[in-house]
Amino acid sequence: MDRRQFLFHSSMLAAGAALPFKSLFANNQGRFKTLRRNVGYFTERGGTIGWLASPDAMAVIDSQYPKTAKNCLNGLRDKTDQPLNLLINTHHHGDHTGGNPIFKGVAEKMIAHDNVPKLMQKANKESEGEGNTAFPDTTYSESWEMDLGDETIHAKYYGPGHTSGDSVVYFEQANVVHMGDLVFNRMNPYTDRPSGASMRSWIKILSAVADEYPSDAIYIFGHAKPEYGVTGNKDDLGVMENYLSAVLNYAQKGIEQGLSKQEITNKETLEEFDHFLYADFWTLSDNLGVAYEELTQS
Ligand SMILES: [Zn+2]
Repeated sequence: MDRRQFLFHSSMLAAGAALPFKSLFANNQGRFKTLRRNVGYFTERGGTIGWLASPDAMAVIDSQYPKTAKNCLNGLRDKTDQPLNLLINTHHHGDHTGGNPIFKGVAEKMIAHDNVPKLMQKANKESEGEGNTAFPDTTYSESWEMDLGDETIHAKYYGPGHTSGDSVVYFEQANVVHMGDLVFNRMNPYTDRPSGASMRSWIKILSAVADEYPSDAIYIFGHAKPEYGVTGNKDDLGVMENYLSAVLNYAQKGIEQGLSKQEITNKETLEEFDHFLYADFWTLSDNLGVAYEELTQS
């Protein structure tokens, strides 16, 4: 791991992605948006939070950071008198679990895929701070569901993607799907290979999800280029899928031409995707490096 990757890796896992995501996604106050029925999203800093706030239930998907988690919880308490029934973590990254301590003891259940507590524990060991010990208390291996008031919430694991513990969360009656970080909308995504990410499997997940849910489902994305926003439809999943395929294909072609890893990864943007956001904390080169490793080491 080179120095830049090390710094990024450390800041993602130890400081909970505070540094890179702060500059991109900082707002002075959180924003609530209702999407359909009693389901919506909250953005302030870090990964997009999904929520359900109905007369008989409250649920939260992901927890951002302690300060913004408090703002989110306070705002939801204005929408419903119900206690918080549920927190689901879509994956272990600090910008999606950093607010867990705010929800610990408040949420009746904290749900995630089996690998999430393990990956949080590993991140704690690698960090120099105290770490986040507010782990999910209920985990599942393939799928999980629960009725909450007049809504049914599903969590499903489709295999390794952005990490090896990504849940896709579906609000069935509202027909809203939270993708966690399986979609960075029009952004070069972070790909956490040390936590089991796989680009090839990620591509299959996006295609499976687009086929599985109704064509008019609304999707919530973990991160987005601001002009495109953190929600969209199945076509946006297709764009993410095409991008990952283009990254893999570019690396594959380079390997076939006998180019070195350094030659292959020396690239700043992909031509057909020049409208994408290429943030400097995780570059196209980094993803081409991941693709190269996946294609040559697996
Ligand atoms: Zn993530």
